[in-house]
Amino acid sequence: MSNVKAVVLSAYEKPLEMREYPDITSLDAGEAVVRVEMAGICGTDVHLWLGQLAVPLPIVLGHETVGRIELLGAGLDKDWRGAPLAVGDRVCWASSLVCGECYFCRVKRQPTRCTSRKAYGISYCADHGPHLRGGYAEKIHLRLGTAIFRIPESVSTEAVIGAGCALSTAVHGVERCPIEWGDTVIVQGTGPVGLAAIAVAKQAGAAKIIALGAPAHRLELASSFGAAAVINVEGVIDINSRRAAVLHETGPYGADVVIECVGYPEAVNEGIELVRDGGRYLVLGQYANAGNISFNPHTITRKQLTVQGSWGFEPRHVDRALRMLEIREWSAKFASEVTHRFPLSEANAAMETARLHKAGKTVLIP
Ligand SMILES: [Zn+2]
Ligand SMILES: [Zn+2]
Repeated sequence: MSNVKAVVLSAYEKPLEMREYPDITSLDAGEAVVRVEMAGICGTDVHLWLGQLAVPLPIVLGHETVGRIELLGAGLDKDWRGAPLAVGDRVCWASSLVCGECYFCRVKRQPTRCTSRKAYGISYCADHGPHLRGGYAEKIHLRLGTAIFRIPESVSTEAVIGAGCALSTAVHGVERCPIEWGDTVIVQGTGPVGLAAIAVAKQAGAAKIIALGAPAHRLELASSFGAAAVINVEGVIDINSRRAAVLHETGPYGADVVIECVGYPEAVNEGIELVRDGGRYLVLGQYANAGNISFNPHTITRKQLTVQGSWGFEPRHVDRALRMLEIREWSAKFASEVTHRFPLSEANAAMETARLHKAGKTVLIP
């Protein structure tokens, strides 16, 4: 029996290791094996590598993956949308599986908070069979119940990976914190989630989008994604000057919606001051726990703000992200985010490139 190569995180802050696991030749009903074409390196992977989120080591990293179906278990003949699914089809999938039975799944309809939610590339210890449960590998094994999506011919693999988990995350966030047609929107942060938030805001009908971010090459992307004005947070370091620059663009009252996609807690204090009275603030970027800050809740009461959080995404958000990528303009823009390609054997160099934010999107091509 042949072996399958996979890149494994076995100790935090240590080099990733190449391991081999037995190939999977038989499946139970509803399962699938996918041969990986491209795996994206997400900021979360860097956090995992650095030990900033607890995971069951060793793990095969990778929750943004595109590949071709190699094996299908009995009964799995349709994708999540009901389209026929066959060996050889190019697919992606929702990275998380929920139980559908817990209090949050069933009663409160907050499946992203499922008490037994599991994500490929994050939640599965690679010591347990079938081992291959992350994208940094030649193949991945998909469990029964995984929301698999056949990718339309018109949507490139680069577009799907360039959009990554960020686009589905932004779709979910904006669903919880709606943008109305004609709104003025500020996006804090020009990483993958920030760019996706700009795209979703634009698609949702925002009349003017202002992006706060850095460095210069990310601001160029922000402009190409639809930001009418960009402010370089490294160039305008004083928060009051930054606020003045933003208000110059929004008008004196601030923005209808501000979306935080930064991840540094201090960004929340800055962002909440940029929301107009009665406006909405979406805290989307605080994925890792970066600690406490001093904060004045009087602002929320006085300004009558709606403050919203959003965690991960559901399959239906992946569905809408893919629909957005069927619009040629968006697929081209997201594909342009993929700038650095590495083979599996150079996963450590790839990780380092992603950690230093040198690249647009860094990907692995097994
Ligand atoms: Zn991610
Ligand atoms: Zn559940």
